[in-house]
Amino acid sequence: MVLHVLSLARIPIPQALINSSSSPPFMEEQQQHRVVVCGGGVIGVCTAYFLAKKGAAVTLLEKSSVACAASGKAGGFLALDWCDGGPLSALARTSFNLHRSLAQDLDGAQCYGYRPLTTLSLSITESQQHNQKRNQSASLPAWVDGPAGSPRTIGTAETTAQVHPQLFTKTLLSKAVADHGVEVVIGKLESVAVEGGRARSVVLEGGREIAANAVVLALGPWSGKLPLLSSIFTVYGLKAHSIVLEPKEADAISPHALFLSYYSAQGGKPMDPEVYPRPTGEVYICGMSARVEVPDDPEEVAGNPESIAMLKRVASNVSSHLGEGEATVKAEQACFLPCTDDGVPVIGEIPGVKGCYVATGHDCWGILNAPATGAAVAELVLDGRASIVDLSPFSPARFVGAKKRSM
Ligand SMILES: Cc1cc2nc3c(=O)[nH]c(=O)nc-3n(C[C@H](O)[C@H](O)[C@H](O)COP(=O)(O)OP(=O)(O)OC[C@H]3O[C@@H](n4cnc5c(N)ncnc54)[C@H](O)[C@@H]3O)c2cc1C
Repeated sequence: MVLHVLSLARIPIPQALINSSSSPPFMEEQQQHRVVVCGGGVIGVCTAYFLAKKGAAVTLLEKSSVACAASGKAGGFLALDWCDGGPLSALARTSFNLHRSLAQDLDGAQCYGYRPLTTLSLSITESQQHNQKRNQSASLPAWVDGPAGSPRTIGTAETTAQVHPQLFTKTLLSKAVADHGVEVVIGKLESVAVEGGRARSVVLEGGREIAANAVVLALGPWSGKLPLLSSIFTVYGLKAHSIVLEPKEADAISPHALFLSYYSAQGGKPMDPEVYPRPTGEVYICGMSARVEVPDDPEEVAGNPESIAMLKRVASNVSSHLGEGEATVKAEQACFLPCTDDGVPVIGEIPGVKGCYVATGHDCWGILNAPATGAAVAELVLDGRASIVDLSPFSPARFVGAKKRSM
């Protein structure tokens, strides 16, 4: 397998925007507003939370377990303005601020590790002496004692922050269940039953049916496996690896997120792993991505040993605190980024199926953009339009006809 051929590059590709169309709000038509949200990742959970907060009766349908995929294995890095200049700008800014206010409401006891932090870019060159190029345009934290160079501050505590993505997703769901009565069903969505051009229920593997006035499909990289969606647009998975380390001297690690240009002693193109110390004392490192087929079962997603070994090598070259013997390996894992052909998420009502909505394709910014996506989808479903953020850049209607043309 070719390693690190694709990066987690956090810059989306700007694309021509097409206005979204939405059906009349079902709340005007129906007294009972029952919504089934399919997919228990961060996007589905945020959508369920905001829908239930607005008064809908919500069922969350998850095939395996909540946050079992990318939403439980991501870095959890958040940035206010890194998407500026592209179609994600307003979504990202709104979501960054929503993360801050959600943390004030829900993370008082630090249950999901929200914190602002400083972010640096730097290079690591394996063949160089340790500490050779210290203290250039920005000073490096003392724990970054490997062969580091060219440090630059690329985010401040005002513009960058982090959450523990699995704890964030689970905390939000607990709140949605306890305070707003969200029901969680473990089962696999097989299809959406449509009658007279409107979604009427979801059908689970085994035949069980759950009636709904509206259905939201938040299946992440598995969206491409549902014919209702794959007939209109492509969602593919980019597999990326990560390790979680627990250094013996956790107190030595300061809250600095690191974006690396990593030059291996073997040569080749530089890699771009990311390093996130967490308030739990853990250090999360990710990178090593490639486009591969998404397996049906999320529990089957396993890391490639070579990629995991490379991330461990990165760790020991970043800091002596992260090397073998100095840190315990708590997790070696992989997960899939949900990606679209134009690099822009797909959020909106599915053309031709009233009351059926999709929210996916968040790529490397799903943890950041989940709160604004969830809040906007809740408005779209219940009020007929989103006011918190303009969803027109994300409309699935932009793909209508495009797939057939490209075949
Ligand atoms: C290594 C890595 C690091 C990342 N770091 C960051 C970061 O620092 N910041 C950031 O903002 N983003 C980051 N991301 C991106 C982020 O993790 C994703 O964009 C986000 O988690 C996608 O969420 P989701 O809910 O769409 O999908 P997922 O988390 O994949 O959830 C989809 C869910 O749907 C369920 N499902 C699938 N099919 C069915 C079915 N038929 N029936 C019922 N349920 C079904 C699955 O079991 C799964 O639980 C990272 C991603 C990776 C891989």
